Amino acid sequence: ASFETAGLHPIMLANVKMARYGIPTPIQKYCIPAVHQGHDVIAIAQTGSGKTAAYLIPILNKLMGKAKKLAAPRPNPATFRPGVDAPARAEPLVVIVAPTRELAVQIFNEARKFCYRSMLRPCVVYGGGPIRDQIEQLQKGCDVLVASPGRLIDFIDRPAVLSLCRLRYMVIDEADEMLHSDWEEDFTKILCGGDQEEGNVNYMFFSATFPKPIRELAKTHLNESHVRI
Ligand code: AMP
Repeated sequence: ASFETAGLHPIMLANVKMARYGIPTPIQKYCIPAVHQGHDVIAIAQTGSGKTAAYLIPILNKLMGKAKKLAAPRPNPATFRPGVDAPARAEPLVVIVAPTRELAVQIFNEARKFCYRSMLRPCVVYGGGPIRDQIEQLQKGCDVLVASPGRLIDFIDRPAVLSLCRLRYMVIDEADEMLHSDWEEDFTKILCGGDQEEGNVNYMFFSATFPKPIRELAKTHLNESHVRI
């Protein structure tokens, strides 16, 4: 298997080459075709396995093919006045949830490489950062949102800033790291609390371990034809 024969959009293939990825890692080899075929995915994956690219490449690749149709109207960056001009809300096609700010920023940096020269715009939001700056970022347009759970929930509660009405993919990365005390409530809010249309969303769970609560959660959200990697 190679990236050249994976059926990638020319822009994506160029970005993969620019990132100096030679051959797909094992998880990428299984994950890329599964996402291309429209399956939900649950994957046991350690850091260093190439798991980030395993979901970013096929998701962004699929969206690149339909970018014109899917892209949200966005303001002209030269004249846009944040907080004054419409559109006042982000309508991402992809949301990636990561347990920590560090991981969220790392995923965002990967997403930036793969979105390069495409119409897709990535954003990152996390707790601790000033929320006003993050709102401004979102208001410039956001197709791919990387978020820590708490901050994502804050934004789900601000429907004037963030709407999941156009969501196509939701990725939960390092799911087992999110099992702190309020995990059940948080996950319910993240997976069901927004205005996403359930039937339009592919769900993907990545985790180093799959303790029972994560398995149960995945079972209720993954479609019947999901792929286990
Ligand atoms: P991850 O497991 O997603 O944290 O990725 C670990 C590191 O491997 C990151 O620095 C990636 O940029 C890099 N990487 C991922 N996939 C490949 C690949 N196919 N070839 C070379 N490097 C890769």
